[in-house]
Amino acid sequence: MENFIVSARKYRPLSFKQVIGQQAITSTLQNAIKNNHLAQAFLFTGPRGVGKTTCARILAKTINCENITAEAEACDKCESCTSFNDNASFNIHELDAASNNSVDDIRALVERVRIPPQVGKYKVYIIDEVHMLSAAAFNAFLKTLEEPPAYAKFILATTEKHKIIPTILSRCQIFDFKRIQVEDIAAYLAYVAKNEKIEAGEDALHIIAQKADGALRDALSTFDQIVSFSGNELTYKNVIENLNILDYEYFFRVTDALLSGDIPELLLIFNEIIENGFDGQHFLTGLGEHLRSLLLLKDPQTIQLMHTGTGLKEKYKAQAARCEAAWLLHALETCNKYDLDYKTSNNKRLHVEICLMQISHIGENNTGTQAEKKQAAVISPAKQVQPTTQQPARTPEPLSQAEKSVSEEKPGYPETPEPVQAETEKPAARPVPRPATKPVTEGNGRKIKNISIKDSLEALKKNKEKGEQSAEPVRTNPFDQEKLEEAWNLFTASYQSRSPSFASAIAKYTPKLKEDFVVEYKVDNKIITQDTLNVTALLQFLKAELSNTEITLTPVFPEKNEPKKAYTDREKFDQMAKKYPEIVKLKEQLGLELQF
Ligand SMILES: [Zn+2]
Repeated sequence: MENFIVSARKYRPLSFKQVIGQQAITSTLQNAIKNNHLAQAFLFTGPRGVGKTTCARILAKTINCENITAEAEACDKCESCTSFNDNASFNIHELDAASNNSVDDIRALVERVRIPPQVGKYKVYIIDEVHMLSAAAFNAFLKTLEEPPAYAKFILATTEKHKIIPTILSRCQIFDFKRIQVEDIAAYLAYVAKNEKIEAGEDALHIIAQKADGALRDALSTFDQIVSFSGNELTYKNVIENLNILDYEYFFRVTDALLSGDIPELLLIFNEIIENGFDGQHFLTGLGEHLRSLLLLKDPQTIQLMHTGTGLKEKYKAQAARCEAAWLLHALETCNKYDLDYKTSNNKRLHVEICLMQISHIGENNTGTQAEKKQAAVISPAKQVQPTTQQPARTPEPLSQAEKSVSEEKPGYPETPEPVQAETEKPAARPVPRPATKPVTEGNGRKIKNISIKDSLEALKKNKEKGEQSAEPVRTNPFDQEKLEEAWNLFTASYQSRSPSFASAIAKYTPKLKEDFVVEYKVDNKIITQDTLNVTALLQFLKAELSNTEITLTPVFPEKNEPKKAYTDREKFDQMAKKYPEIVKLKEQLGLELQF
């Protein structure tokens, strides 16, 4: 490679039509040239590396050209054009205000403005990084900018428009340069690669383009850097090694493991990532981006926001098809939360691991069996009914492992055949309605349906509009104490198989019907009334059985000094349970039957 010229210079556009990604600006400038409506001063603002100086140079060359084409492009043949292309024109003056920002620098420039051009029509002054000028320099420049000679044109360029004083802004025609689209950069890189006879993979170029964050110049220098390292073949692997980017393969694997709830696999992948020298935050940010990409593919309207090569896009699509939009939203939310908290965490590795475990917990239901999904779907509508009981709320603390497995394996209601569950064969003894309240374990992801973002938002809106209409219709069928007791006994009998301890506890005393359909029931200890799942099942059963949705349950407890009955085994157990509530959980978990 003799006399290597950096691509950013070698491929610097020489005409307006070669400028990438700034079509609005170049066509405005060309129209102004055609109509001879050129301003005296321009302000080119926008991020670095997007073509501000390039456009300024092309503009300078074009307006000095002796044979401007009909499309308002320079001819590239005349004397002026060739001197411009050889960087030998006397009609263009570039000043980098970052290094020449004193009053003296500006005075020298102003001096030169006074001399008219010897050849050509215009003298063009390009002041780069104009926001770096000192206040005094700004003021010295202002006079010239107010009354410039007709042959002088000023092009001020800056990455920080907000630092330009209003008196300057008001004297310039302002052009806002945009970040260049990833697709445009990638396409341009492909063109450069082809010209340089470099074999470059589409994914490789896309990664470079993404990393450049809209700056074509940065993309080109990255491209040069990797080519000088890896020779004439530019692969995805070269690129990620060079740019210290986490391989997207990791994120596909992590997402798979999250979906299947494979925690050991998650920990192993994360370990591998750490061993490759990446830090946790890097990983969390990358995971967030990956999940976002999957979410974007869920809606036809957001697919266009995905900037990857087509091959990779197909891979994303395949994974996105296996995730549900609601799951992705929850996962993203969790990931983002942990990303934000990362800095303050003491054990950073554990912090990321907990994040992964949490997300995989969301996934549990996502990949669950059809039956589970159906059940989840059945639970959700009932959620709209507000619980009317006065039962104390359960603490929102995370569930212990034991508690979790209890409530998951043994939801507090019988699995009765709903019409949708056609596969259930044996007829159930007695249909007990589903609990109205949200079961504690009904975590973030229980009510997942396969929906697009838009659909979910619309559904939410509709639900809100409907309001109470969608709730269960109010029924106030009157009933008496006798009917209540009948229903009560039915429940305790059918519930015996579900939760013997709960059934026995409430069967011990007779409930009392009070005014306004308040049902007062007595239990030996508070723990029973805090068993939200079972209490709710009871309430729902009564409501259905007695055709009355206004029923509420109020627990009462035996007086403290009320003399206890003889100490039976049952009571001994209850006393112990009162003192050590874990016993009940243990019993439930081990599926123990008590024989009293
Ligand atoms: Zn020319």
